[in-house]
Amino acid sequence: MRVAARMARLGTETAFAAAARARALEATGRDVIHLEIGEPDFDTPENIRAAAQRAIADGWTHYGPALGLPVLREAIARDATWRKDFPVTPDRVVVTPGAKPIMSYAITALVDRGDEVIYPDPGFPIYASMVDFVGGVAVPVPIRQEHGFRMEPADIAARITPRTRLIIFNSPANPTGGVLSRSDLEAIAALAIEHDLVVLADEIYGRIVYSGEHISIASLPGMAERTIVLDGFSKTYAMTGWRLGYGIVPPELVDAFSGLVINSVSCTSSFSQEAAAEALDGPQDAVEAMVEEFRARRDLIVAGLNAIPGIDCLEPSGAFYVFPDVSGTGLDGEAFAERMLSEAGVSVLAGTAFGTVGRDHVRISYANSQPRIAEALERIRAVLAPLAV
Ligand code: PMP
Repeated sequence: MRVAARMARLGTETAFAAAARARALEATGRDVIHLEIGEPDFDTPENIRAAAQRAIADGWTHYGPALGLPVLREAIARDATWRKDFPVTPDRVVVTPGAKPIMSYAITALVDRGDEVIYPDPGFPIYASMVDFVGGVAVPVPIRQEHGFRMEPADIAARITPRTRLIIFNSPANPTGGVLSRSDLEAIAALAIEHDLVVLADEIYGRIVYSGEHISIASLPGMAERTIVLDGFSKTYAMTGWRLGYGIVPPELVDAFSGLVINSVSCTSSFSQEAAAEALDGPQDAVEAMVEEFRARRDLIVAGLNAIPGIDCLEPSGAFYVFPDVSGTGLDGEAFAERMLSEAGVSVLAGTAFGTVGRDHVRISYANSQPRIAEALERIRAVLAPLAV
């Protein structure tokens, strides 16, 4: 069958394929430690699950408004006004099935053929995929370990042209765990204002920070009206399978987003939204406990990796990933990931799953228990030991 030419421009998330390979190996009876997975291993907190059960019993099983149930849009507006520190009104909130649609809606709404979009490399692969898909030009900014995995404002400035429309960044970042400082955000904001650009700020890991506080670029002067904030429930509340996310968009973009929601999914699951309102309005101690556990795992994995000859791992400030340079082992990221899966039964992702810059790196997710992380470190060390001689 002939598929449309545009399909050749659609990328993917190779993480799903890598996870499938790890599961296939597991099916042959091998014990595989999953460090490739980008989701919290915790269960969704009990109060949220109970709210969903009540919502189903109460009949929240029908279509709802395209932009989301008022109760949830109001809860998001309250939460975001407080945590992100800028005035968010419910009419600017767009609820979606997972946060991912906010990427494609933002890019579809803003990028014409030939328009340029600046994005991080390594970064979440869907940014460049969607820009290519709509006929835009994806312009990567290299994110390097030497710069603490921060997206350097000077590197952004050097790539702005008259065709630039949008700057995408992600802080805390997947796959590096890098976090932008206030002065980075101020410099990016100044560029956006000077060149009249829109910013897509992916804040999905905004609650998973280990030092300091998360700063939303939308809170800086002049930025709320040119920033699309992407956030959601998947990571913060361990709700990946519920498919719940949202965008906070400038008022003039609400109609465009509404049209895209109606044309693609109609609306987001009603009983999931009722549960999401409980997630925001109910107790937050489960979130705090998850972040504390992630911090302990981070400390374990960073120390463990740096104790292995040839691996150089920076301590991340947020999210639940490390992005070590493994070139000192004599392997690049792809060869390393391949050997760890086949010889150690440890599944990690090659840095090239996130662009071209991180070829000497692998992404390791520490969303796994401390005993399993310790076991993985032992196995990695054992596979590498003969290489070191
Ligand atoms: N942004 C980033 C950087 C992510 O890593 C993810 C999930 N892996 C998402 C957005 C989307 O999350 P979801 O659609 O599950 O809410």
